[in-house]
Amino acid sequence: MNVILFGPPGAGKGTQAKYLVKKLDGFQISTGDILRDEIKKNSEIGKKIVDKMNEGKFVDDEIVNELIKKVIFDPKKKNKLIFDGYPRSVNQARNLDLLLNKSKQKINFIFFLNVNKETIIKRIEKRKILENRTDDDLNTILKRYDKYMETTRPVLDFYNKNSNFCEIDGALKIEEITSKINDFITV
Ligand code: AMP
Repeated sequence: MNVILFGPPGAGKGTQAKYLVKKLDGFQISTGDILRDEIKKNSEIGKKIVDKMNEGKFVDDEIVNELIKKVIFDPKKKNKLIFDGYPRSVNQARNLDLLLNKSKQKINFIFFLNVNKETIIKRIEKRKILENRTDDDLNTILKRYDKYMETTRPVLDFYNKNSNFCEIDGALKIEEITSKINDFITV
């Protein structure tokens, strides 16, 4: 089963992705984690993207799409993909569609965790303390949120008419969101 977790930064996609990984014996495909790994390794890609990531800007589609391609064509991960943070633009959504078609896969469920700006600011400030992420200061959070509204939110039009699309109030407690996800998958 392949699933997309969609929503603004700080909506709780990562937390629910970890739940789904266990439930579905899947793989969390977090482009944020993949990109942070490249920076840690100090790879050529890492050097190219470090400034953009610290400023909360998007990494170029060319780089992200190439990294995602490797994941989608990895036979071990086939039909076990839990996307967290991808696609983040209409261009990336089209690319995902193409790659899934080519690899004879599809998206089974899309969960939109909808949260307002105030809740996100509170949550990300907490995460900054817990995880010490360099892109979690208030200015960067606001920039990331604006970028989400401008570039990522339009991706909803790509998916929200499908019967496998489910919108959930992301301000609910973690367990409540998990339970709604569970209900939608098992119905
Ligand atoms: P995340 O961990 O999902 O919050 O992502 C952290 C940062 O990684 C983002 O602010 C972007 O700089 C970069 N990033 C993650 N996923 C993508 C993506 N799909 N497209 C472009 N940049 C991304």
